[in-house]
Amino acid sequence: MSAAELKSHYSLIVIGAGPAGLSAAVTAAEHGLDVALLDDQRNPGGQIYRAIETIPAERASMLGSEYRRGEQLVAALRNADIAYFPDTQVWSLNRKREIGLVHGQTAAMISSDQVLLAGGAMERPVPYPGWTLPGVMNAGAGQILFKAQGIVPANGVVLAGSGPLLLLLAWQYMHAGVEIKALLDLTPVNNHLRAMPYLPRALLARHYLLKGLTYQLDLKRAGINIVQNVSDLRANGEQRVESVSYRHRGQQHTIKTDLLLSHFGVIPHIQLSQAAGCKHNWDKRQQCWRPQVDDWGNSSIDGILIAGDGVGIGGARTAEHAGRLTALQAVHALGRMTQHERDRLARDDRKWMREEQHIRPFLEAFFRLPGRLLGEPADDTVVCRCEEVTAGAIRRAISDGHVDSNQVKFLTRCGMGPCQGRQCAESVAQIVAAETGKRLPQVGLYRARPPLTPLTLAQLAGLFPDETE
Ligand SMILES: Cc1cc2nc3c(=O)[nH]c(=O)nc-3n(C[C@H](O)[C@H](O)[C@H](O)COP(=O)(O)OP(=O)(O)OC[C@H]3O[C@@H](n4cnc5c(N)ncnc54)[C@H](O)[C@@H]3O)c2cc1C
Repeated sequence: MSAAELKSHYSLIVIGAGPAGLSAAVTAAEHGLDVALLDDQRNPGGQIYRAIETIPAERASMLGSEYRRGEQLVAALRNADIAYFPDTQVWSLNRKREIGLVHGQTAAMISSDQVLLAGGAMERPVPYPGWTLPGVMNAGAGQILFKAQGIVPANGVVLAGSGPLLLLLAWQYMHAGVEIKALLDLTPVNNHLRAMPYLPRALLARHYLLKGLTYQLDLKRAGINIVQNVSDLRANGEQRVESVSYRHRGQQHTIKTDLLLSHFGVIPHIQLSQAAGCKHNWDKRQQCWRPQVDDWGNSSIDGILIAGDGVGIGGARTAEHAGRLTALQAVHALGRMTQHERDRLARDDRKWMREEQHIRPFLEAFFRLPGRLLGEPADDTVVCRCEEVTAGAIRRAISDGHVDSNQVKFLTRCGMGPCQGRQCAESVAQIVAAETGKRLPQVGLYRARPPLTPLTLAQLAGLFPDETE
C-alpha cells in the first residue's frame, strides 16, 4: 500500500479478509460499491483459510477437506474490483466511521459511508497455573505456524483444553507425524447429558457430528492417549515448561514435555465494535460478550455492520453467508438496491445459515466450560500477562471495594499493557463476578480506547503533518 493508493474515503470499508469479509467485499463490489478491504494478515483467508494461496499441496491435504473451500473465496477477491490492503492493522474506529490504520510504518485515518466489521474470533484466554511459561502456547498459534510455515513440534506436544479446534489440531498433527504425548480434555463429562436435548436438532447437521467422531476415531486408532474429564491443569517449570500435571479420576498425573498447547474455545473479537461504542450483550450459552446486531448485521450504530464470528461463533460457512447478507444490506442502505431485491438475493444465504446453525446449541452445551475454570484461578496465577497482575492482586482490589472491571483496571493496571486487555478482559470480569456474586452484565468489560494496538510516536505524529512542521 502506498499513500497514493489509499483513498481517504470509500463507500464501504470491510475490516477482515476471512470468509465473512471476503464474501462481503466481493458481493458489495459486484453491486457497484467502491470497496476497501483491510486485513492485518499478509494474505487473504482469515483464520481458517490462512495461507490458502501459498500453501504446498501436501500440507493442505493434512488440514482437512474444509480448508480447500477458501480457494474459491480468495479467487473471487482477486477477480473483483476491490481495493485490498493486506498487512494493515486497524487500531481505531469511531461512531462517525472514521478508521485509524497502520501499514508498515505509516499510520492513516480514512472514513467510509458504511463500515463492515468482519474481524472474526480469538481464542478464549483462560489463566491457569504456568500458562505464561515459555513453551506454553495457544493451540491456535500452533496451527498458525503449521498452516503458514509448515512448522510443527519437533519433540512432541501435550494438547490440553476443550473445543473442536483442539481435536482438529490433534488430527492435523497426527497426519503431519507429530508425536502427541497426550490430549487432555477438560470438557466436563456431565456436559454430555447437558447437550442431549439438543442432539435431535444437531442431527440435521450430522456432517459436523460425523467429522468430530471421525477425528476421535482416527486419533484412537493411531494410539493417541486421549484423557477425558481432566481438571486442575498446570504447566510446571522454572525457566520454561518442563512438565504438565493434571487430575483425572481423583489421581494426580504428570507428563514431561517442553511444549504445551492449550485451547478453551473461541470468542468474538470485539475490541473494534466496543471502541466504536456498539452495544454488546452477554451470551450465557456461548459464555462471551457479543455485539448486538439485527438480522442484517446492523449494529446499534448507524452505518456500522458486523458479520461472521465477530458477532458470535457460528463457523466459517455461516460467516461466509452472513458476510454476503450484510453486504447486501450495505448496498441497500446506500440506495443502490431496493429492499425487495435485497430480500430476494438474501434468500439462499438465510436458508444456508439456518441449516448451518442446527449444530450450534449442541456444541455450546457440549463444550461449556465450568465456571470454576473461568472465574476461580489460584491467587498466584498471572491473569494480565502484559502487566503481570495476578488473580490475588485482582481479588485484593475487589475486597478493597473496586467491584467492576474498569475499577479493577484503574487500581491494578491490568489491561493497560500492549494487548490493551484483549487477553485479560474476560477473566477479570469473571473473577469480579465470582467474588462479588454479581452477574457478568453488571460487572462489564474494560472500556476500549484507541489505539487498540501499539503505535509509535512517529506514526502518531505522521497523522498530523501540518502540526509537526
Ligand atoms: C486461531 C484460530 C484458528 C482457527 N482455525 C480454524 C480451523 O482450522 N477450522 C475451522 O473450521 N475454524 C477455525 N477457526 C474458527 C474460524 O476462524 C471461524 O469460524 C471463521 O474463520 C470465521 O470467519 P470470519 O470471517 O468471521 O473471521 P476470520 O476468519 O477470523 O477473519 C478475520 C480476519 O480479520 C483480521 N482482523 C481482525 N482484527 C483486525 C484488525 N483490527 N485490523 C485488521 N485486520 C483484522 C484477522 O486477522 C483475520 O484475517 C479458528 C479460529 C481461531 C481464532
